Amino acid sequence: MGGRRLAKPQEDDANKRQNGNERRQQQQQQNTVLARTNTRRGEVQRAMRRTSENVNQVSSQHMIDIPVNKSVYNGYQGRQFSMADQRRAKQQGGNRPSLRVIPIGGLGEMGIGKNMMALEYDNDIIIIDMGFLFPGGDYPGINYITPDITYLEERKHKIRGHVFTHGHLDHVGAFRHFIHRIPAPVYASKFTVGMLQRQMDEATSGFQPNYNVLNPETHERVQLGDSFSIELVRVNHSIPDATAVVIRTPVGVLVDSGDWRFEDAPVDGKKFDLDRMKEIADNEGILMFMNESTNCESEGTHHHGELDIKQSFGQVMENYQNSRIIISCFSSQIHRMQTILEEAQTHGRKVAFAGYSMLQNLEVALRAGVIKIPKDVIMKMDDIIKLPDNKVTIVCTGSQGEFNAVLNRMASGAHKHIKIKQSDVVV
Ligand SMILES: [Zn+2]
Repeated sequence: MGGRRLAKPQEDDANKRQNGNERRQQQQQQNTVLARTNTRRGEVQRAMRRTSENVNQVSSQHMIDIPVNKSVYNGYQGRQFSMADQRRAKQQGGNRPSLRVIPIGGLGEMGIGKNMMALEYDNDIIIIDMGFLFPGGDYPGINYITPDITYLEERKHKIRGHVFTHGHLDHVGAFRHFIHRIPAPVYASKFTVGMLQRQMDEATSGFQPNYNVLNPETHERVQLGDSFSIELVRVNHSIPDATAVVIRTPVGVLVDSGDWRFEDAPVDGKKFDLDRMKEIADNEGILMFMNESTNCESEGTHHHGELDIKQSFGQVMENYQNSRIIISCFSSQIHRMQTILEEAQTHGRKVAFAGYSMLQNLEVALRAGVIKIPKDVIMKMDDIIKLPDNKVTIVCTGSQGEFNAVLNRMASGAHKHIKIKQSDVVV
């Protein structure tokens, strides 16, 4: 029982020793251990405490494999972790920080939108996308729903960067509402940064984000904190400059696909960079692939390439040579607009764009160089209505029958310039 020897009584002056002796005699009557020693009381108690610690240590060695908390509410659904388990985990590096993949919004939720993913490792957090959700008729009076970022606000000192896959609102729509609450540098492709800046034009916070354009063509990498580095990989989608994000972490490589499709002949000639993706998979291995899955449960193919659509526009312009042609599309379908412009030029028509968001996006696209506008095709709305019908093509928002969009206003007679008449062709 412990190799320690009890300390010798110290030499005191005569008086003290006498008083001490009296006290000791009283104590010796009460304490059987002290009764056999000349040692002071505190010394003995310290020795006894040491002994009991030894006893605990020794006895715990025999209890090591006995599970402790048997409740199903033990935090692991009732799974038992013995001390031996914990020792094993430690030997395998269990005391290193682990990577946490935290869907803030968009994953496994009803509706399409509010995509937002956080990755956390040790003292670093990075965030991919900040979308909102158009709630539709289920939430009357609600314009959009944003994710709950409480978790991130509580850890905003750890946030090293925001990465964006592409400029659709279900991926960037909440940016202007959140960036000042969880500030960090922003990374995205050129057009996507343009769309984010456009978002901030409507922000009320006055916050100036730190934008950084990443070039997917050069496989540019950026280190974010100690734990992460990111790289963008080109994908095809219904908006220009869409990318997947490759995230290198201390535990392995993660890929967030963003929204994507395969296109044999993309309008801008920039194909899905499968070669790069394969290179990363072959050389580094991909630990986790986070794939978008919109409509993945419905069977069959849903997509026609932009080339097919270009031919269809050509046919419409051919078949209805004397009519005004009114085409609706999403305001961010820059490549669709490019296609329409090219077909209009071929058929000697002029094009006017209608709708605030469409014009804004067109400007962003021009600045980012992702649209090539043929000469002398675009006209202002005020001017195009003076042309004969066979020269007029209008491109507007409202392809989904949105109440306030341009197409709806044209149809109901509420639009300033255009009222749809019988001879018009609406695509
Ligand atoms: Zn998208």
